Amino acid sequence: MPFYDVVIVGGGIVGLSVGWAMTQRYPRARILVLEKERRWGHHQTGSNSGEIHSGIHYQPGSLKAAYCRDGNTAMVQFCRAYGIPHDVCGKVVVATDRNELPQLEALYRRATGNGVAVKNLCSEELRAIEPHCAGVAALHVPSTGIVNYRHVAEKFAELIQKGNGDLQLGAEVKEIRVLPFGLQIECASASYQSRFLINCAGLHCDRIAALMKVRTGMRIVPIKGEYYHLTPEKRPLVKALIYALPNPRYPFLGAHFNKLMNGEVRAGPNAVLTLKREGYVRNFDLRDSTELFGSRAFWRCAASHWVEGGKELLRSFSKTLFVRHLQKLVPDICSADLVAGHAGVRAQALMDDGRFMDDFLLLRGPRSIHVCNAPSPAATASIPIGHAIVDRLREGGYGF
Ligand SMILES: Cc1cc2nc3c(=O)[nH]c(=O)nc-3n(C[C@H](O)[C@H](O)[C@H](O)COP(=O)(O)OP(=O)(O)OC[C@H]3O[C@@H](n4cnc5c(N)ncnc54)[C@H](O)[C@@H]3O)c2cc1C
Repeated sequence: MPFYDVVIVGGGIVGLSVGWAMTQRYPRARILVLEKERRWGHHQTGSNSGEIHSGIHYQPGSLKAAYCRDGNTAMVQFCRAYGIPHDVCGKVVVATDRNELPQLEALYRRATGNGVAVKNLCSEELRAIEPHCAGVAALHVPSTGIVNYRHVAEKFAELIQKGNGDLQLGAEVKEIRVLPFGLQIECASASYQSRFLINCAGLHCDRIAALMKVRTGMRIVPIKGEYYHLTPEKRPLVKALIYALPNPRYPFLGAHFNKLMNGEVRAGPNAVLTLKREGYVRNFDLRDSTELFGSRAFWRCAASHWVEGGKELLRSFSKTLFVRHLQKLVPDICSADLVAGHAGVRAQALMDDGRFMDDFLLLRGPRSIHVCNAPSPAATASIPIGHAIVDRLREGGYGF
């Protein structure tokens, strides 16, 4: 049976970044990445907005704030170094009426407190950047960019292989046994032994932790984000990225307009509960739903978020409401300009007390580290997250 120093479960951008960090810091370590799908970055990594976030929105002092700001710089450097197409196009966050000005000011203070350069714009200056955008004032964030994160994940995989790491697609981890000398990891067609495991299983991270009997105090709630695409002739209405001010009571940034690297422009994503963890269309999974509805944490969370959640659900079913929401930012948009596109599903941790976990959550277990909350901006922050996990391995006394 093959024996490894570290097995990483999950070949999304976080797992692959950990693998790449391992090969750089411990070139002699034997590492293996196991991914259940047939390609890298198939789930969250391959179905997101593709933004290289700046770090303006996150709680000062949080991991999200620090890793996102550092991750922005690291991601742009990585893309430059390896020739991955990207564009540091900047974004605007818009106050659509005067009542929102205090919130815009608060965001300015938070951004500068997080060490991110931003500029206040009056409505004329906003129009010079985004000519079709309505707003009484805005913040301009020049360091925000765009990239296709699946390309980044594929490059990480290539670098792991060049660094003598092993990669296995189509390998779903089904069982993990903690033995006195290490771990035994069972997939359908093979078994592996390892000294250490890093759980980067995204939408299934709580289940991988449960296989090792790690008490995480959380469960994953799948939150779908649906997009519309602008028809090709309407793409010029949006130059780069246009955001409304986020609802401070909700851990999501709200539907916005974003340009993609392939030239398309999308509107979205919304944030609606889905009854299947990898449910990209309106579908249902019995295990996922019964576990969710059977948990007290879910009902506590529903009691505090039913108003915002209800509005998002209505906008998910009614294109008219979705368009009305977008027209506050770009009034010239109409329903015929938008075509329903794909969706992504966020792995959002819900804590046992009914709170959405706001920050990234990295937990230790026996011979293991578990990435238990890595929703947005974890793609942006993937390089610092990878290094932080390798640091924790070293602090835990593991050298390779
Ligand atoms: C709609 C949406 C928009 C977003 N927009 C942005 C953005 O603009 N910028 C940004 O920075 N972030 C964004 N994010 C967040 C970002 O996509 C995620 O934070 C990031 O991709 C998380 O990466 P991951 O590797 O943890 O998860 P994933 O990419 O989901 O990877 C986890 C992997 O684990 C595998 N796996 C699960 N269980 C097993 C098992 N038992 N055995 C083997 N493999 C297993 C899965 O198949 C999967 O490939 C967005 C997310 C969504 C959903």
